[in-house]
Amino acid sequence: MDLIVEGKIYHNGAFEQGCLVIEQGKIVAIKKTLTAEPHLDVGNHLILPAGIDLHVHFRDPGFTHKEDFSTGSQAAAFGGISCVFDMPNTQPQTTSKQTLKEKAQIASEKSYVDFGLYAAVSDENVGRLADLSPFCNGFKIFLGGSTNSLELSTKNLRLALLETNRTKKITLIHAEDGPCLKLHEGQENNLVDHLRCRSAECEETALRAILNNSRGLSSPIHVCHLSSCEGFEVIRKRPSNISVGVTPHHLYFDVHTLNTKQTFYKVNPPIRSSFDRDTLWYGVQNKLIDIFESDHAPHTEEEKNVNFDSAPSGLPGVETQYPLLLSAMKKDHFNLDTLLALLCERPAQLLSIPKGKIEVGRDADFIIVDMKKTEPITAEKLHSKCGWTPFEGFPAIFPSMTFIRGEKVIDDHQILVKKGFGSSVGV
Ligand SMILES: [Zn+2]
Repeated sequence: MDLIVEGKIYHNGAFEQGCLVIEQGKIVAIKKTLTAEPHLDVGNHLILPAGIDLHVHFRDPGFTHKEDFSTGSQAAAFGGISCVFDMPNTQPQTTSKQTLKEKAQIASEKSYVDFGLYAAVSDENVGRLADLSPFCNGFKIFLGGSTNSLELSTKNLRLALLETNRTKKITLIHAEDGPCLKLHEGQENNLVDHLRCRSAECEETALRAILNNSRGLSSPIHVCHLSSCEGFEVIRKRPSNISVGVTPHHLYFDVHTLNTKQTFYKVNPPIRSSFDRDTLWYGVQNKLIDIFESDHAPHTEEEKNVNFDSAPSGLPGVETQYPLLLSAMKKDHFNLDTLLALLCERPAQLLSIPKGKIEVGRDADFIIVDMKKTEPITAEKLHSKCGWTPFEGFPAIFPSMTFIRGEKVIDDHQILVKKGFGSSVGV
């Protein structure tokens, strides 16, 4: 064996004091006691599965002044995330075999955590998606425009979904309807204007189109970052192959309490009302939401510090998501089972990767956590290149160690593996 880690292990929905036995990056046994070496005893600290973030924008290539695969993946590791899936709206966008291969090369040279990539579906490459399938972990469709994104016309949605369905890979959808957004377009001076210009009606329209155009299909379709009460009502009853995600920023902010630094909270879909926020919490607490996703989308402070209308949309979150949610369980009435299902198990299942659970045969991806160690989030301790966080001051419980495939990647605020340690998963 390569390593034994002893502590309070979360296994089969409960904690048991025991030993995780790791060989060649995999969990090979879970035993009550074992004395062999090398042996790491973490006492009564918790051993939890590492998180999987199926929605990040690491900006590499093309916008590496905001983030790159090295800084983004360090942020992930310090936040207890062992595997990330990167969105295609980089420069160039990953719409072809060539651009996917180039990004995979960049990620394998720079990443500290394991990774996967999505291919973008556009009106131009629809019809040729099967060719991209061997080079990506799934597909991303933007039904409405967002930061440097490609928009797919709803008339091509059925064709696109039929094609991605045949690949058996997941299709993620940004569900804001393009024509609806255009209809509401206008000058924006603050977050309330942004909300009006990206009305809940646009989310609702996009979700109806997804339900209509995915009839009879069986491969996974994931609705990213649900944000509105109206949207929730449309998607609440859905076929079992359609999953729904929420982000921490839609769960923790509402538009009427954000009075300062408003451009920093400009994001798509927008931060909405407390009513929408409470609906999303209702969904989480009642197991009607499947996934937590950060939608980590950093911009520099300089880029955000401009007038509202010209500020780019997006905010960082890959490092704060798991620590924030660990700390918030009691206050926000959800339990650890729900947290681990939404942040670890379901993403692993949707992306077909052997992670997300502490179980014999899976990758030894786990974190060590002291639940008594709550600390406020501060930007200066985080690792994203953008240098700021919308969650400044929020209580969080950061992991003291992160293990990926049995290797200790993070220990006591230090990164212990080399750049490029992370490897591609699932393709
Ligand atoms: Zn996104």
